[in-house]
Amino acid sequence: MTTLSVRDSKVVWHPFTFLKSKQLPIAISKGKGIYFYDDKGNKYIDGISSWWVNAHGHCHPYIIKKVHQQLQKMEHSIFASFTHEPAIELSERLLKKLPGMSKVFFSDNGSTSVEVALKMAFQYWSNKGAPRTKVIAFKNGYHGDTFGAMSISARNVFNNAFEPLLFDVIHIDVPTKGNEKKAMLQLQNEVKKNDVACFIFEPLVQGAGGMVMYESYILNEMLALCKKHNCISIADEVMTGFGRTGKMFAIDYLSNKPDIICLSKALTGGFMPLGLTICNSTIYNAYVTDDKTKTFFHGHSYTGNPTACSAALANLDIFDKPVTFKNITRINEQHLNFQVKVKQHKNILDARVTGIIIAFEIRTKEKTHYLNRISERMSAFFLKRGIILRPLGNVLYILPPYCITNTELKSIYKVVNEFLDSF
Ligand SMILES: *Cc1c(COP(=O)(O)O)cnc(C)c1O
Repeated sequence: MTTLSVRDSKVVWHPFTFLKSKQLPIAISKGKGIYFYDDKGNKYIDGISSWWVNAHGHCHPYIIKKVHQQLQKMEHSIFASFTHEPAIELSERLLKKLPGMSKVFFSDNGSTSVEVALKMAFQYWSNKGAPRTKVIAFKNGYHGDTFGAMSISARNVFNNAFEPLLFDVIHIDVPTKGNEKKAMLQLQNEVKKNDVACFIFEPLVQGAGGMVMYESYILNEMLALCKKHNCISIADEVMTGFGRTGKMFAIDYLSNKPDIICLSKALTGGFMPLGLTICNSTIYNAYVTDDKTKTFFHGHSYTGNPTACSAALANLDIFDKPVTFKNITRINEQHLNFQVKVKQHKNILDARVTGIIIAFEIRTKEKTHYLNRISERMSAFFLKRGIILRPLGNVLYILPPYCITNTELKSIYKVVNEFLDSF
């Protein structure tokens, strides 16, 4: 009998996947809570929330119910010249949670939410009659795989082949511990020229760059500087949004707010693709004009998909239940306890925690890097013990669905220790 994995290898090209790997993909046939089941009946803990999209566990019955109800009414409708209740309600409810924000623009994934944010910022200046194209971004950032998103991301193995095609970006240091002053000075040197179109950043945690973390106070100061010098600030909350950092949004830790926010990933609880770019009235008003050439000419076929919106609304309902943030706080406390212990291990370079994310930088002969060869060994080690983790090179991390219990968390920590003791 041909297994699903063999059939797959004949027809499918998988993302971010080394094609000469001997490892066939695991065929998942069922998800429930924090668990995945494969076609052979094996059970796995999803320790990374399916590439950071899941929030409350797989096949959450409440989200299923709400999506089902929506599907019986209307699966999709065009979103230019037409509108619908799910998109309006989602916008109203998110804007209530994002003080200072004014309008919601729909697309369908994280990369497009970033493309939209960049285009919004560039055209803002163009509409004002004072075009600007300079962009500032953090080194080591990741903002997606489309061309604009690749341009502002770190230049690395992900986008080497496209280097000559990417637009210029000023990359400044990440304000990690000890680097705050340097990063601040670099930002200041650029924004004081008053010609920067926008500054884009992953707030508090750089995800794909290896779960690199920095403090909120310094980002707050950076936003103040941007405001002072008329530089549009864009918070890419695609990964950090929806509880990852301990609050609903990472920018909830800041008193200065960005002009534009990008959301996706856990926005629908991990059920459906949806991207949002949310802006304040300053940005929006630059587009409200009698001059039709100043229209924002951007849209995707599935813009504002009502089924995805219904999943996002159900997701918000679950966030509104006190138990969700109780769980988020509990997971954070468990992580902090484990961090103290694991930091002592001889094979740990660093262990860091923000919200529900714990990351372990493993000491190896090679330097900290995405292609660090320990990565595959780690994945295999955890998989064999029924846990799905997908390290970023030698940075192992846990980013679990919020319904994970302390016992289940401890069972992952135990295997982390076993792995650290194994070499
Ligand atoms: C994943 C990610 C993106 C890209 O989102 P996709 O839905 O994968 O296109 C953008 N920004 C950040 C911070 C991300 O983590």
